[in-house]
Amino acid sequence: MLLFEKSREGRGCAILPECDVPVVLPQEKDARKQPLHMPALSEPELSRHYTELAHKTRGVNDGFYPLGSCTMKYNPRVNEQIAALEGFNQIHPLQPQGTVQGCMEVMALAEKYLCEITGMDHMTLQPAAGAHGELTGLLLMKAYHTSKGNTHKTKILVPDSAHGTNPASAAMAGYTVVSIPSGDDGCVDIEKLKEAAGDDIAGLMLTNPNTVGLFDKNIREITQIVHDCGGLCYYDGANLNAVMGIVRPGDMGFDIVHLNLHKTFSTPHGGGGPGAGPVGCKEELAQFLPSVLVEKDGDDLHFTKPEHSIGEMKSFYGNFLVVVKALTYILTLGREGIPQASSNAVLNANYMMNQLKDLYTMAYDDICMHEFVMSLADLKKDTGISAMDIAKGLLDNNIHPPTMYFPLIVEEALMVEPTETESRETLDEAVAVFRQLHAQAAADPEGLHHAPTKTPVTRLDEVGAARHPHLRYHFED
Ligand SMILES: *Cc1c(COP(=O)(O)O)cnc(C)c1O
Repeated sequence: MLLFEKSREGRGCAILPECDVPVVLPQEKDARKQPLHMPALSEPELSRHYTELAHKTRGVNDGFYPLGSCTMKYNPRVNEQIAALEGFNQIHPLQPQGTVQGCMEVMALAEKYLCEITGMDHMTLQPAAGAHGELTGLLLMKAYHTSKGNTHKTKILVPDSAHGTNPASAAMAGYTVVSIPSGDDGCVDIEKLKEAAGDDIAGLMLTNPNTVGLFDKNIREITQIVHDCGGLCYYDGANLNAVMGIVRPGDMGFDIVHLNLHKTFSTPHGGGGPGAGPVGCKEELAQFLPSVLVEKDGDDLHFTKPEHSIGEMKSFYGNFLVVVKALTYILTLGREGIPQASSNAVLNANYMMNQLKDLYTMAYDDICMHEFVMSLADLKKDTGISAMDIAKGLLDNNIHPPTMYFPLIVEEALMVEPTETESRETLDEAVAVFRQLHAQAAADPEGLHHAPTKTPVTRLDEVGAARHPHLRYHFED
């Protein structure tokens, strides 16, 4: 039931101060024709409404949430406490710079540490998400080639194991996408890459570890091939959770990288809040970075605009409080904790994969990074139980489903990313549930087809929801 439906005329809980400015009514032509539909509820009714909604959702605090590629790790509360400090959240973007030096110091520090972690020379904190960072990075690439007169470079190489946003961003930046197939080992097919690498190549976008959870073993050769044809290398670092503090894109030959602070650096995402997709680059690209950057001059910090800036990618300074949370996380973990988090993420994924691979077919039988992909194609053939059925069965066992039917190169894919914040006990419980569902697939497939049965809503008409979405509430009057 919606707030509007619970509403009763005359109720309400607004306690507003008296208006202290002259009341000016709009002109007749601008005035609304119908009264505004404001729900009228008492405070307890309102409070209960939102608590009820909270009970119906699933979040990382409700249980295991192994959503591959999305890194739903636990977000330490201290991040929130720091971001809630008045000096951070009661400021205005147009405040004189002299009054927000502390906030600028946060930006400068975050930039410094993120550069150190990625092996880049400069970084913009402006992009609001991973895909937004990709577009920013590609515009940097374009500005670079334009400045060199490389107008014939119109193509971007994207391996087929890349995240779906990579080809989309390249197309948005006006490039033609050339897909490079993966070999049987799940890595970029080097021979195919060599064939495609020509003078018309502006660059390559590589997701690493890729979407099948593997670290490309030919990474240095890949970046060399692209550089040899005059292209630049872009590293999709959304999945840095597997490698942060251990290896750096800058040392692998990459020129540009984006990070997802809302995945790797532990700030809530999905329905939980805004994200940030900072973009780092090597020195020669810094002149094209979006405005604004923080520059340090002795003790004084001020904003600058790079000489040949591509312009603004977002209003003001990006999602500043997300940066505050990420910096808190980095400082809490420190130089030892950052690589430790990655090692544990990789260990947890390999542990779970090895506990399941006698029953479930792994897409690639290799050591994985922070996530692994299984294919349920055989199970479906034998029992009729699909990846979707298993995912729904997990929900009845208090586990959020893994990412489903992605990557596209694996049939009936389930992509599991446990993250480093899960204990051995949680992993063991999840393994037991996966194993029990596998047994149920043979013994009671009909039951699984109807899962979930214990959730607030059961099996949904997902196609109907996508094709005929109801996005507006229709009032009767
Ligand atoms: C999540 C993700 C993205 C996109 O990030 P958004 O913040 O959702 O735009 C890009 N690449 C990879 C590998 C990702 O996992």
